[in-house]
Amino acid sequence: MNYYSLNKKAPNTSFKEAVIKGLAPDKGLYFPEEIKPLPPSFFDNISTLSHTEIAFEAIKQFVSPDIPEATLKSIVEDTLNFDFPVVPLSDNISTLELFHGPTMAFKDVGARFMARCLGYFNRNNSKEVTVLVATSGDTGGAVAHGFLGVKGVKVVILYPSGKVSDIQEKQLTTLGENITALEVDGTFDDCQAMVKTAFLDENLTSKMQLTSANSINVARWLPQLFYFMFAYKQLHKTQNDIVFSVPSGNFGNVCAGMMAQQLGMPIKHFIAANNENNVVTRYLETRDYKAKPSVQTISNAMDVGDPSNFIRIQEIYKNKFETLKDNLSSYSFSDEETKQALLEIYNNFNYVADPHGAVGYLACKAYLKENPNAHCVFLETAHPTKFLDVVEEVIQEKQALPPQIEAVMDKEKVAFKISDYEDLKGFLLG
Ligand SMILES: *Cc1c(COP(=O)(O)O)cnc(C)c1O
Repeated sequence: MNYYSLNKKAPNTSFKEAVIKGLAPDKGLYFPEEIKPLPPSFFDNISTLSHTEIAFEAIKQFVSPDIPEATLKSIVEDTLNFDFPVVPLSDNISTLELFHGPTMAFKDVGARFMARCLGYFNRNNSKEVTVLVATSGDTGGAVAHGFLGVKGVKVVILYPSGKVSDIQEKQLTTLGENITALEVDGTFDDCQAMVKTAFLDENLTSKMQLTSANSINVARWLPQLFYFMFAYKQLHKTQNDIVFSVPSGNFGNVCAGMMAQQLGMPIKHFIAANNENNVVTRYLETRDYKAKPSVQTISNAMDVGDPSNFIRIQEIYKNKFETLKDNLSSYSFSDEETKQALLEIYNNFNYVADPHGAVGYLACKAYLKENPNAHCVFLETAHPTKFLDVVEEVIQEKQALPPQIEAVMDKEKVAFKISDYEDLKGFLLG
């Protein structure tokens, strides 16, 4: 499969090059030249297939011929060695739990898949690749764990000092080996700006191969389409009208769901669940896309003011506003509403959600009001204990830490403090 840049001013390139570059030279996001639907029998018989078989068939065309089939099989098998259960809450609402991986947020799958692809491409260690990533919390941990010990790949994570949770900080600062954490005296936006400056700094990029590991990278973005198929596998026999409500920030996850739809999965509608960062909700109402600075909320992984993957969504629906609206709804909720929802989910269903999932639940309820025959699946994108303060305060009950989180809590943090781009550049070159 070849990929083109959505800015249309760069040459088309292979999967391998798209993964290594991250972003096209014209700064556009890469998009596959073609999406060949899977045969209808694949979806009819999906319950007979294992997760690895589903994932392998779904991703094959996007990585071929750069990764041989046998290697791809072991990559997906390795990537997916945990569970993705659908938990029914009521007759028409279920949740798809995406937090059973090593860092307990859904980003584990994309990070693990991408790490294994890069590891394969770099197996002969010809040129070391440096993965440079800014995190507001979950990406850093997932990338750190995903890439730990991958030969020929160095990972440098920038995070804003004092602005990630204790658990998140431990997950990204305690691994060592090929993973380095840089603690930035500033905000997430400052971290992100430094990373962007680095990618544009020819003096730096001429000396080292830099790539990104957020959802702009096709190897981080595409494997997320597996989730939607795993949910479909569990539900399609009992539910007809399945819709997905996806807590969205950069819109990579929901956009991956739409790729599953393009592959022929019979899902007619998606819901983007947003907190008060509601650029897309507004766009669908007004037809006017207005990026704005992000505001801080309790569902902080969705605090994005200009979602980078929205352009891919527009491409999927051929840049036609009406087609987009047929396939995507979006709702936005305040922190107060989110806390109410956490409590409601706990009281009504005896289920502990995290703030992101709670926003997804609210969006399900809003959609079901207009479409009472649908079955809405909201994605639980992180384990509730990753947001312990909010969750315990709202439901007034102590939460036990799962073993994955317990295990990092008494490890020692190692991070280098930096305060500006010169510090970062000095670190990368030194
Ligand atoms: C990253 C993240 C999101 C948002 O996902 P996007 O693909 O950026 O839309 C939602 N919830 C959690 C917990 C996350 O870590």
